[in-house]
Amino acid sequence: MRKRSFFGLSKPCFKYELATDTSARPVAIPTPGQVTLYIKTPYKQASNLLKVGTPVKTGQRLVLREDDDVCAISSATGTICAIGPFLADFGKAWTAVTIKTEGKDDVDPEFSAFAAEPSLETLERFLSAGPGEPDFSPLMDAGRPVNTIVIYGGNADLLINTSLYVLKNNIEIINAGIEVLRKATGVQEIVIAVPKESVQNYSGHLDARIQPFSSQYPYAQPLMILHDLTGRLPDESGPSSMGIHFLRAEAVAAIGQAFNSGLLPIEKTVTVIDKQGAKHLARARIGTPVGDLLKKFDIPINDQDKIVFGGPMTGNAIYSEDLPVGPDTDAVMVQDKSEIPLYSDYPCINCGDCVRVCPANVPVNLLVRFLEAGQYSEGADLYDLYSCIECGLCSYVCVSRIPIFQYIKLAKYELGRILSAEEMNEQ
Ligand code: SF4
Ligand code: SF4
Repeated sequence: MRKRSFFGLSKPCFKYELATDTSARPVAIPTPGQVTLYIKTPYKQASNLLKVGTPVKTGQRLVLREDDDVCAISSATGTICAIGPFLADFGKAWTAVTIKTEGKDDVDPEFSAFAAEPSLETLERFLSAGPGEPDFSPLMDAGRPVNTIVIYGGNADLLINTSLYVLKNNIEIINAGIEVLRKATGVQEIVIAVPKESVQNYSGHLDARIQPFSSQYPYAQPLMILHDLTGRLPDESGPSSMGIHFLRAEAVAAIGQAFNSGLLPIEKTVTVIDKQGAKHLARARIGTPVGDLLKKFDIPINDQDKIVFGGPMTGNAIYSEDLPVGPDTDAVMVQDKSEIPLYSDYPCINCGDCVRVCPANVPVNLLVRFLEAGQYSEGADLYDLYSCIECGLCSYVCVSRIPIFQYIKLAKYELGRILSAEEMNEQ
């Protein structure tokens, strides 16, 4: 249950990228020799549909079983050269499919047959694993109807240009995506959240109500936007419990592009942040190894340097340059080993900095004690776990270097698993 209201930030003060330098087109990353795609379901051996040696086409839905809903979309034409289990964050069990690519694309025709008449089922079937990784499931829940879709034009973290670049340079195609969404979902109220400094660039150009947000971090986080829109926050079921659903601008652009062209988008825009903090925009096929992007921008990786998916506040460290760009990878950041903030096992000294910095006014110093002990339900019930908007500022300021943000994400994930299991049992 959420108990706290929001107050302004005290310190420190960070600004999002405002995409003033995004007129330059992203650098195109060549098709790699192999792409790796994740099907977000556990690996099942002896799939007759996908095995080593199976040929696949560009834009083909990859499913382990004929009737599976969870899929990946092949971003290249080639032959499967490896398939097996992949352990994602928090122990999530997925299936990794690696495709040895051919020189040219042979496009799978299945989607084109559905492209003339948009429907929610078609969006779910073909676009949910596309750029921006839209989650259509809340829109399909008749028991909890969505009446407002918020297109999220902000960047999720500091230093990232991706979302604002896409928004600024794809207005027509985003309008096409909005039209498809209205037809397919029946939701007429569409809001687009943009930085307040650039409202005039979008007013009258986008077929949606404009909602400005502050460029001060973390006011572009979806939950902050939701609070600005409605004056309140959702329960643990998320924004859909309030009849509101968020989609990234890149996902809406992908929807518009797909239905305009009859071809599924297979590329992702990514901000690559080098060790000096300089930003480069790249466009790569989903599944391209991260190392290909780093090579393109001459970013060397030395022993003990860190590669992060995402930005400095909320990104996740990855362990290999071979890991692929995913449909939700907005940024890849490299930190020199001398710049990496280290976590420690020092105890909390009760300095209160995390409480003072928290924009959601969570009693972080108390919450973290329960989360460290694995007492997630108590943390949620007593100390406002669900008021957290996942900005990462508490971890940033913690003098004891406690990985508070990681504890919070783990706790929400574990409680979400318990809630899903309970809902399944009730059915
Ligand atoms: S991540 Fe930390 S600072 Fe940010 S909202 Fe959550 S508890 Fe507060
Ligand atoms: S900032 Fe860190 S050390 Fe200070 S009260 Fe919060 S958790 Fe404890």
